[in-house]
Order: sequence, then C-alpha cells, then structure tokens
Amino acid sequence: MFKVKLTQLNALLDALAASYPVFAPIVEAGEANYGEYKAGAEVNLFKQTVKSAKDAFFPQSQDLMKFRTEGKKIDIIDLRRDIAPFVIFGVRACDVKSFEILDRVFLSEPVDTFYKARREKGVIVSLACAKPEESCFCTNFGIDATAPKGDVTTYTEGEYLYWIPNTDKGEQLTEAAANVLESADKADEKAVEEQKKRVGEVLRRLPNGDLDLSEFKPEKLNELFNDPDWDELSQSCLGCGSCTFVCPTCQCYDIRDFKTNDGVKRFRCWDSCMYTDFTKMAAVNSRNFQLQRFRQRFMHKLVYYPSNNDGICMCVGCGRCVKKCPISMNIVKVIKKVGGKKHD
Ligand code: SF4
Ligand code: SF4
Repeated sequence: MFKVKLTQLNALLDALAASYPVFAPIVEAGEANYGEYKAGAEVNLFKQTVKSAKDAFFPQSQDLMKFRTEGKKIDIIDLRRDIAPFVIFGVRACDVKSFEILDRVFLSEPVDTFYKARREKGVIVSLACAKPEESCFCTNFGIDATAPKGDVTTYTEGEYLYWIPNTDKGEQLTEAAANVLESADKADEKAVEEQKKRVGEVLRRLPNGDLDLSEFKPEKLNELFNDPDWDELSQSCLGCGSCTFVCPTCQCYDIRDFKTNDGVKRFRCWDSCMYTDFTKMAAVNSRNFQLQRFRQRFMHKLVYYPSNNDGICMCVGCGRCVKKCPISMNIVKVIKKVGGKKHD
C-alpha cells in the first residue's frame, strides 16, 4: 500500500497526466463530472459525479464512419483510431460494477469494437466510499462500496489518499506516480481497515439498503408486465430522459448521419427509452404511451436483463436517478410498489 497527502492530490494527478490522459471528477459550476484533468483543475473526490463514469468507454457522442460519394461511387472511411492508454480516476464501486454490466452488452457477439478498444486501454483507479449518501442503495446488488475493484483501489482517510495496486496495469500506474507516492505502514493499513468497518456499518443502515427484489423473477414476467401499478407510477413521468442519461448502466443509443463539407458523417449518441420517438419505425411506434416506455425501462433493469445475464440486475444502486428526477420518481419507488406484492 502507498499513500499521498490529500493536499498533494493535484501533484499525484500531474504525475499521472505526464504519462496518460487522466479523467477525474472535476468541479464546474458547483457540480462534479468526469473530465480530462489539466494542471490546476479543481478535483473533488468527495462529491458524487452527476453523470457516471460510463462516458469513458461509451462516450455520449461518438463518430463511427464517414461516406464520400462521387457519382455512383461511395467510399466508406473507417473513423476508428488507435486509443492510447488512459486513466479514469476516482471511480466508486457502483460505477466499477456498471462496467461489468456494460461489458455483457457491448462485448458479447457481435462485439462493439468502439467500446472494446476503449475498455482495453482504460486504467481504472477506484475510490472506496468514505461517506455514502442517503440516496445510495448499492448493497442490494452485492456491491461492497468499501472495497471497489479496479486496477488500483484508493481510500481517502484523514489527511491521506491510500493507494493499492491490484493488477499489472495498476503497478505500471504506480511506477508513473512513484515520485509522489510514499510507502504506507501498519498504522495506515489499520486506518483503512477501520474505515471499511465504519463505512460498512453506515451502508447497512442506509434507508434503502435492504430492498426486497425477490418478486422480480423471469417466471413472473407476464404478471409483472401486466401489473396495474405501472399506470399510477408512470402518470407524472415527463419523459425527460434525465434518469437514463445519469445512469451508469443505461446503454441505449441512436445512430444518425449528417452532411458535412467533406461527405456524410455517421455518429452515435446516447438515446433514452423514455423518449416518445425511441421505438418509432417507418410502419409503427411500438410504445405509444409513457406507461409503455416507463415500464420498459424498469422491466429491462429488473427482469429482462437479469433473465439473460445470470440474474444480475441492470442497476447498481448509485442513486443518481433518485437525486435527478424532476418529479421524484425512481427505481426505488418502482421496486417498493411493484415488487411489494405477490404476482402469482
Ligand atoms: S437506475 Fe438509478 S440507481 Fe440504478 S444504476 Fe441507474 S441511475 Fe443508478
Ligand atoms: S422517471 Fe423522472 S427522470 Fe426519468 S424520464 Fe420520467 S420524469 Fe424524467
């Protein structure tokens, strides 16, 4: 284990940034979001980022290819480029877990080569939660916020940031920061262990730390789908899509073409199943009502995805949707209402 004083956080990031592009929680207009670290940036490790870390592997907008036409001839230009290794710094356990959920989508056949290229080059520096928020409920999904995975795991305790490399990539990163990191001793290890126990107790007592997910079983799909409570739950939903945009596990996207002065560019950008035109096709829209769209989002997270992925839910309990929905509707309320009664 290594350590560096929190007052030296920027020195640590400067050292990493000398060898890698570094994405860290940077404060802008009072909110923290992942952005590329530049010397002197205000980095806040104690505030949950508004958007999750998924942009690192699945950017909100991404160019895919370009077409140039000359008469009837079409040239297709591949816009894939080699990705240099990069660091994502300060990723909480919930967001680390979300990468496994995204992997099952993007890395299964047919493999999404854009995602794969970024995923292989990303070096994850995770950060254990020292102060879980009331909106957090990651414990329901088997996540231990006191022991996040990643290439390096870090802890903030007292005046120090503690640094534990877990993988070869993590060891290489440690070498890159060797001038800033110092060796930790037994007393430091004890301080980290005590934090883990203390925070573990807080996690066990969170208001939504023990939700009952037992109703969301694949064999109850039809009964859950036809539950009359979807009507009331979805009635006030504005279809704004904020919940999907802040969510680390939502992965729907749209693909569009636009004309440039140098041919036609094809790009993809995040989309939301909460939007009215999300399933609009030339012939029909298969989800015409907000009830259908709302139900789709939660059935996907709690029933469809787990049915195809060894029972793993497509939620990591980060609580971002709890904080950001303008009408205070969220997955916790859905779990309590729909999952709070028997579907036989
Ligand atoms: S559904 Fe909400 S709590 Fe769950 S991962 Fe998405 S944003 Fe986080
Ligand atoms: S549930 Fe809330 S955040 Fe999500 S689309 Fe509806 S109003 Fe917007």
